[in-house]
Amino acid sequence: MSNAGESALHYPLGSTLPEPGRTIEVAPGVRWLRMGLPFALDHINLWLLRDRIDGREGWSIVDCGIANEATRGHWEEVFENELQGLPVLRVICTHMHPDHIGLAHWLCEKWNCRLWISATDWNAARVASTTTTGFGGEAAAAFFAMHGLADPEALDKVRARSNYYASMVPQVPRAYRRLMDGQTVAFGGRAWRCIAGYGHAPEHIALFCADLNVLISGDMVLPRISTNVSVIDIEPEADPLPLYLASIAAMRTLPADCLVLPSHGKPFTGLHTRIGQLTEHHDERFADVLAACAQQPCHAADLLPVLFKRTLDLHQTTFAMGESVAHLHALAGQGRLRPQRAADGVLRFSTVA
Ligand SMILES: [Zn+2]
Repeated sequence: MSNAGESALHYPLGSTLPEPGRTIEVAPGVRWLRMGLPFALDHINLWLLRDRIDGREGWSIVDCGIANEATRGHWEEVFENELQGLPVLRVICTHMHPDHIGLAHWLCEKWNCRLWISATDWNAARVASTTTTGFGGEAAAAFFAMHGLADPEALDKVRARSNYYASMVPQVPRAYRRLMDGQTVAFGGRAWRCIAGYGHAPEHIALFCADLNVLISGDMVLPRISTNVSVIDIEPEADPLPLYLASIAAMRTLPADCLVLPSHGKPFTGLHTRIGQLTEHHDERFADVLAACAQQPCHAADLLPVLFKRTLDLHQTTFAMGESVAHLHALAGQGRLRPQRAADGVLRFSTVA
């Protein structure tokens, strides 16, 4: 959902964007590049960190883009034009979503280097790339149907999409190095601290460098859209919204004036303002959901027009359904809503008097 309070944030680079295959330095030794995505969300930001390992000079890559010809082509241009003749020394993935890890296998093979990622996300990516669970298929269709998605065409499309993750992440490196919360990684002699975050991905890792006052926020804090926080079929009783809100609240301990490098949108300052906006955004959505459920018991699909005031394509509908369930579960977790499964097998939620 786009951010009405965006003007309260500051974009130090204005409207400047890196050209495809090119980078822009956003802090000493930190370079920004963008890759296209075939979704409504049409780009992802990736980062190069000037690095040195065991006396060897080079670069570390943070996040990869999805596996397709165009992205590989842009990477080749970056290698040609932007690395100053130096190699890539490691590949960092903030989390396991396809736009972040899709080309990790290709990058690690090409440069004979290691993938660094949280253990939870490495495992989740390995599973998702080799099975048909999680992002489509029969189980996902049944989960959406239980939450009220009735359109047979939409359900058929979800069923047919069992290869969805693997189509964007055909492989995940078979070996990796584990990133954990609180761990410090030195990139080019500068210390960056890993900050684990929950609710968006299994164990998302953001990176903060106190020296540079720079936060690579990944998908946890975005300037323009709210982070997707969804319940999906492989963990159908999950309650990810409190996890997400606690994770971003914890980022208030970082300096208010740090430069935030998000995975989507532009580098910005105003971290605390944005955390406040996101918290408020979800509070408003909670109020909307409670008001709707006070009228009559609602399932997750009933709430789509309440939560999303725009037309959704299938890709957006599945994300929106996951988010709708997440709001319902959070309120049920607080004892404010009660789930009830009717004779039609659909789960509806009503307010607790
Ligand atoms: Zn993500």
